[in-house]
Amino acid sequence: MRIEILGSAAGGGFPQWNCNCRNCQSSRAGTFQGRARTQTQVAVTGDHRRYFLLNASPDLRLQIEATPHLHPRHGQRDSPISGVVLTSGDIDQVAGLLSLRELQPIRLYSTPSLRRILREDNSLFGMLNRVPEQVSWQEIILGRAFTLLDVGGVDSGLRCEAFSLGSRYPAYLSAQRSASLRPEEALLGLFLESASGKKLAYLPAVPAIDASLLERLETTDLLLFDGTFWTDNELILVQGSGATAREMGHIPVAGDEGSLRKLAGLRRPRKVFIHINNTNPMLDESGPQYGEVRDAGWEIAADGWSLEL
Ligand SMILES: [Zn+2]
Repeated sequence: MRIEILGSAAGGGFPQWNCNCRNCQSSRAGTFQGRARTQTQVAVTGDHRRYFLLNASPDLRLQIEATPHLHPRHGQRDSPISGVVLTSGDIDQVAGLLSLRELQPIRLYSTPSLRRILREDNSLFGMLNRVPEQVSWQEIILGRAFTLLDVGGVDSGLRCEAFSLGSRYPAYLSAQRSASLRPEEALLGLFLESASGKKLAYLPAVPAIDASLLERLETTDLLLFDGTFWTDNELILVQGSGATAREMGHIPVAGDEGSLRKLAGLRRPRKVFIHINNTNPMLDESGPQYGEVRDAGWEIAADGWSLEL
């Protein structure tokens, strides 16, 4: 299995258009020791021919253009992108679907709740189904592994299993609408397995870590994990007000209850943080937080990485 990291920042990217935090300011000034990043986007393939996107970021068009493997190969209209697997309805996970609207057939894997949000509540996404042979919606059933099929229905060699990570629906939904949806379908984590049995865990948003999650992560070979915030009060410190990391559904990296410490016992997987917010001090490669993460055996994903399992 090959895993292409097309984008690695949290929603808003780095730098973020309206942010003047230390990181963003220094990145614009050209004095930042670290890299700018587009919004988190991953593509996986089992055969280097058929690719599946994990979510669809608002930066997707540029991310595809920056990745030659994802360019059209045959004829006038073509794409090696066979499908998309969605883990939540957050804008930075679904807005890129609108860039895939040019009548290209793809398979779109989502829970029934997310399908209702996109198809019943947001008429813009009707552009994905203007003609019958366009997007084919495939239902994800939690805990039941499924084969990722290409557009023609042929087994791609990759298997996927989704599990619930949280019950919070995006803020653009009314409380009434959220209450009408299955809570366990709000936020998913994914396990992907290659034909040779190699396993990727993809968890760009994790509200909490419990013992059963830890146990399952130890069975994987590569972990792409929520690196959104360094501390719980990071946004409040930068903006003077706002929500904590946990209130936004992200366990922070640092601290006694942070992911660095909670996942320190994992031995098997290669550990990589992804979905990093522009305010996170670990983006600064000259700073102590970056050193702490690297010393703990973690890596921090950057755009353009290609990982092989
Ligand atoms: Zn910033």
